[in-house]
Amino acid sequence: MNDTMTLTDRLALVRREIDEAARVAGRAPEDVTLVAVSKLHPAESIRTLAEAGHADFGENYVQEATDKIETLAGLDIRWHFIGGLQSNKARFVAGRFSLVHSVDSIKLAKALNRKAETLGIVQDILLQASLAGEEQKSGVEQQGLNELADAVMEMNGLRLRGLMTLPPFFDEPEAARPYFARLRELRDALEPRLGISLPHLSMGMTGDFVPAVEEGATLVRIGTKIFGPRPCKR
Ligand SMILES: *Cc1c(COP(=O)(O)O)cnc(C)c1O
Repeated sequence: MNDTMTLTDRLALVRREIDEAARVAGRAPEDVTLVAVSKLHPAESIRTLAEAGHADFGENYVQEATDKIETLAGLDIRWHFIGGLQSNKARFVAGRFSLVHSVDSIKLAKALNRKAETLGIVQDILLQASLAGEEQKSGVEQQGLNELADAVMEMNGLRLRGLMTLPPFFDEPEAARPYFARLRELRDALEPRLGISLPHLSMGMTGDFVPAVEEGATLVRIGTKIFGPRPCKR
């Protein structure tokens, strides 16, 4: 990474690389939303990018995100919740985020639904799929995906928009490609089952967003390549 580049330069660079990957794959660049993952980075860095016109930011931790949302109220930001979420914290998330990417259990879906219904809103969500078996602790396993999707379809406070995955870490980006292709296949199989369209595939991070875009990602979640390395979580 080039340290002399500013935050907005790095965001623009990532955006250009996404656009290029989309074009190579014969996709429209505007069909890929760049979610800037700002976890553990200061609110002021988000402000800089938001004031430069970037709207989508991803956060992982409920308390940290809540503080930032408050600090940055008034800016035009779409917040994405992308981290692991315990159902007892769902009430702090429903209604505050444009999209919750990480719904992986019926218990969590119910908790989000309950809060959304109380607020009188419909919360957009994705289901997080685990495609790597035991190596992956978060996400619903493939066998449980249909059951979870069916349950969500019964919840009036939730609107299912697609799937998310976080493949195991590989040094080589191409190694993640089969997981991205698999997520797309799962989405393609769920649509006729549920009878709705699922426009979103949230996949691809700093190390592997190029194959993710080539395999159909509509939301890429990129932190390090924009903000630099994260300070350790205290
Ligand atoms: C932190 C995080 C990212 C961003 O990771 P980078 O490698 O820094 O781009 C993306 N998705 C999820 C779920 C994350 O927790």
